[in-house]
Amino acid sequence: MKFYSTNNKDLRVGFEEAVFNSMPADKGLYMPEHIPRLDAQFISKIDQHSLPDIAFRVASALLGDDIAPEALRELVTDAINFDAPLVPLDQHTAVLELFHGPSLAFKDFGARFMSRVMGHYLREGQKQLDVLVATSGDTGGAVALGFLGVPGTRVTILFPRGKVSPIQELQLVTNGQNIRAIEVEGTFDDCQALVKQAFADPELNAQLRLTSANSINIARLIPQTFYYFHAYAQVRRAGGTEIVFSVPSGNFGNIGAGLLAMKMGLPVKGFVAATNLNDTVPRFLESGVYEARPSVQTYANAMDVGAPSNWVRIMDLFGGDLEAVRRVVHPARFSDAETVRAMAELADRYDYIACPHTAIAWLGAEQFRKEQPGDYHCVFLSTAHPCKFPEVFSAELAARISTPEQLNSLAGREGKAFAMPADFNAFKTFLTASE
Ligand SMILES: *Cc1c(COP(=O)(O)O)cnc(C)c1O
Repeated sequence: MKFYSTNNKDLRVGFEEAVFNSMPADKGLYMPEHIPRLDAQFISKIDQHSLPDIAFRVASALLGDDIAPEALRELVTDAINFDAPLVPLDQHTAVLELFHGPSLAFKDFGARFMSRVMGHYLREGQKQLDVLVATSGDTGGAVALGFLGVPGTRVTILFPRGKVSPIQELQLVTNGQNIRAIEVEGTFDDCQALVKQAFADPELNAQLRLTSANSINIARLIPQTFYYFHAYAQVRRAGGTEIVFSVPSGNFGNIGAGLLAMKMGLPVKGFVAATNLNDTVPRFLESGVYEARPSVQTYANAMDVGAPSNWVRIMDLFGGDLEAVRRVVHPARFSDAETVRAMAELADRYDYIACPHTAIAWLGAEQFRKEQPGDYHCVFLSTAHPCKFPEVFSAELAARISTPEQLNSLAGREGKAFAMPADFNAFKTFLTASE
């Protein structure tokens, strides 16, 4: 498969180049040059297939022979080594739990697949790959755990001191091996600026083989299609056929993958793009005017994005036709007050403890059901385990959060982070000194 830039369809590169570049030089995003349709026979019998099986079929369709079948099957099975169960709440509503991976958030799908793809392409004797990642919380943990122990790679994570949750911080600083964490005296924006400056620095790039693990990498998008097919397989097993997905959205990578899955032949009735008050996309869908805004802080902080970077991919999937997008993607936005009420209601009504992002997805599903009653299944996506956000819960609800086994292995581990001012020279010295 070749990939073009959304800014220039004549520019085409192979998968390996798209993965290591992350972003084309013209600042577009990579997209597959054609969208393969999955075999109708496979879709009609999908309920007989397991998640690793589905993942392999979807990845092969998208990548063609870029990676040999045996190697691809092994890679996918190693990357997606945890389940994404569909948990029914009532007859027509179910939650797709995407947080059973090592970092307890759905970003494990993207990070683990991407790290293994990069590992696959690294040849022995080649220069070490230096992965730089700035994080406000979830991405850093998933990337760190994704690359942990992958030969030929070294990861440097930058996070803002005191601004990530205690569990997120433990996931960043306790890895050791090929993972290093830098605690920056500053904000997430400072961390991101340092990483951007490193990529633009000729001296650093001459010395190190730098790559970025950010969310626009095509190798993070592809594995997120797997669980939409897997959700459909589970709905079919439960006797359903028609699905509406409600997706808690920030950078719009997750819902973008769902739309890609639909274009590949997954039967879907519609999607709800559920946001917090960072509602650039819902406003766009309603008014037709695209106006990015600075992000505002909310309880669902992994969705605090004012300029969603994957939106151009979605427009590209629909050939730039806003009306066509509107027929499939339904906007919804919710405040912090509504989010907290939804978390309490989910606990009351279904004895289900959901993180704030997940609660927003549920609200999106409920809103859709009110607008369009019918006999379809609403599947809302749970993007993180609630234990990652204990400060958002009332004491009564916090006490009901389960402790996943991933946390037990973190407890009592030694953590180590290098403290650093938000200063590029300090960062550069750090990267080159420890080469
Ligand atoms: C990253 C993240 C999101 C947003 O996903 P996008 O792909 O950026 O839209 C939602 N919830 C959680 C917990 C996340 O970590």
